[in-house]
Amino acid sequence: MPAVKLMRSPIGLVGRDGLGEMKLISACLLGIRCNWNGDGNGNARAIELLRVETLIPVCPEQLGGLATPRPPQEIQGGTGEDVLNNKCKVLNKDGQDVTSQFIKGAEETLKIARQLKVKEFIAKSRSPSCGCGQIYDGSFSGKLIDGDGVTAAFLKRNGIEVIGEEGL
Ligand code: SF4
Repeated sequence: MPAVKLMRSPIGLVGRDGLGEMKLISACLLGIRCNWNGDGNGNARAIELLRVETLIPVCPEQLGGLATPRPPQEIQGGTGEDVLNNKCKVLNKDGQDVTSQFIKGAEETLKIARQLKVKEFIAKSRSPSCGCGQIYDGSFSGKLIDGDGVTAAFLKRNGIEVIGEEGL
């Protein structure tokens, strides 16, 4: 494979032919410290991808107005699709209802995707917001169920391709 030639831009190193393909990405995957306990979930393959693609970091939970750090949150008795269909809620571990913040975060993330004409979102696994394919079951015990987080489900519903971090 030919070596990628890089140049500097305000957002870092990008492919020689321009900014490369533009995608949204869960901000924590780039090591940005936005997750529930005030840490990041840096993914080496995602960070490496910055060399050839333009990755726009978004944190739907912060965009929805939640603080960092914050109590852990899980969807109760369903999936992100069920939350969007008003069939279940997202609660934090203290029992507070954070459903409206999750929906706002999903809407704001879609707004960014639309404004930048982005068609793909690289998603942190298992998150009640970003998770794609599997999420925690609501028991705060580490058990997984099949399904997407609220933002992943909302983006899919609106024609954005969601790629789990395992697919990188
Ligand atoms: Fe990461 Fe998404 Fe959770 Fe934000 S909402 S911390 S981007 S998984």
